[in-house]
Amino acid sequence: MKPHFDYLLILDFEATCWEKNNQGIPEIIEFPCVLYDLSAHTILEEFQKYVKPLDNPKLSQYCLELTGIKQEQVDDGVPLKYCLDLFKNWLSEITKKYSFSMEKNTFMKSGIFAIWSDWDLKQCLTAECKRKNIYRDLIFRRWINIRKLFISQTNFRGGLLQALRHVGLSFEGQQHCGLHDARNTARLVGLLLTRGMKLRVTSDFTHIH
Ligand code: AMP
Ligand code: MG
Ligand code: MG
Repeated sequence: MKPHFDYLLILDFEATCWEKNNQGIPEIIEFPCVLYDLSAHTILEEFQKYVKPLDNPKLSQYCLELTGIKQEQVDDGVPLKYCLDLFKNWLSEITKKYSFSMEKNTFMKSGIFAIWSDWDLKQCLTAECKRKNIYRDLIFRRWINIRKLFISQTNFRGGLLQALRHVGLSFEGQQHCGLHDARNTARLVGLLLTRGMKLRVTSDFTHIH
């Protein structure tokens, strides 16, 4: 069956960070996801939770400045394990509401994760779940790396901001705010699709249990 997608679930995690990257192990502090309708070219739903980092609860000055996330937001945040439950509930609601499935080879309308990198699902979530003994749901095994498709189409390498500029868009909102990064990734995808970009799955670990 040829891959055809109706919806993208665009994620962009923010994590604890330091000026020198050997000062701590990253933990997710913001978990946003937007539901992008590929036929209406619009965002239909948004999920956003701040996540409380448990190993290093105090954000570094560097991280506060980079992400714009406030100490109070993560203090009031939910632990990652609970955030993943909330996300699963949200996903289950929207798949019902819009009648789509995240499964491969479905006869229903289909949705897939899309990210501006592999880092979020390949390194970040995997490492943290493993380290904290949190169940990493099987839904996170397949995604589209938009940056990879962007490079194939344009031969241009850069961050999200540079990529937007490259196609004549400006960044709306604040860079390294996960929700804004996800919204801007959606805007970029929308434009690239009008310029002939074809969506394809770039990572698929569904054969691994
Ligand atoms: P991004 O999606 O580009 O906002 O980055 C996701 C996460 O990667 C951030 O929340 C940081 O933990 C880390 N990160 C991104 N850019 C930098 C940077 N310039 N210096 C240190 N960490 C970074
Ligand atoms: Mg990112
Ligand atoms: Mg980001």
